[in-house]
Amino acid sequence: MKRLLLKLSGEALAGDRKTGFDEEVVTGVAKQVRKLVDDGFQIGIVIGGGNFWRGRSSKNINRTKADEIGMLATVMNCIYVSEIFRSQGMMTSVLTPFEIGGITKLFSKDRSNKYFAHNMVVFYGGGTGSPYFSTDTTAVLRAIEIDADELLLAKAVDGVYDSDPKSNPNARKYDEVSIQEVIDKQLQVVDMTASILAKENRMPMVVFGLDGEDSIVNAAHGKITGTRVTV
Ligand code: UDP
Repeated sequence: MKRLLLKLSGEALAGDRKTGFDEEVVTGVAKQVRKLVDDGFQIGIVIGGGNFWRGRSSKNINRTKADEIGMLATVMNCIYVSEIFRSQGMMTSVLTPFEIGGITKLFSKDRSNKYFAHNMVVFYGGGTGSPYFSTDTTAVLRAIEIDADELLLAKAVDGVYDSDPKSNPNARKYDEVSIQEVIDKQLQVVDMTASILAKENRMPMVVFGLDGEDSIVNAAHGKITGTRVTV
């Protein structure tokens, strides 16, 4: 049995719209995850908030408050994507590190395990529950906590490059790179806090572009066209 933590960036879910959701994109993700669940994979999911709100880009309000809005944005993303997953025949649950009445349930490792045992896809909304962190860090943290075999990072870019491929046409893509090299060269995989957490706890990662055909299914089966980050 393979347990994977899938991190979806908010922007990737927005598709060409750049904000909100592109239902076709999210339904495509759901269909792929359905195949994995049917194949016996256990899937946990963390979703970014960039399609709604980023705490650090808000200039005029207090950072802690801005980050609280960001964390709630990730909960909305989880509820939406979870419902699309249900429309594709999967059972899901949204767990958060803080109470939101009856809308979500409080995260714990035991609760996660219980849901995985019932073939449910488990969404981890609300980030770490603390400001000044990111959903990158949340994804690495939850992957470690739930004993995931690896962390799959589905992004708008198709792997890890030695420089920004948007501004440098000669940027070179890595097939494989160590987490130490990611840290030393500050490569764009996950942010520094998340990178250090992944290194200290030996959590391997796979970075790939969400929009390739069957991209998530292939990555889960080890058929990787993106970049493998070793520990
Ligand atoms: N956020 C937070 N703590 C967390 C996770 C997320 O405060 O543990 C907030 C933060 O404001 C962040 C936003 O939620 O900007 C969306 O998360 P994401 O990781 O997508 O943001 P990004 O790293 O792209 O700014």
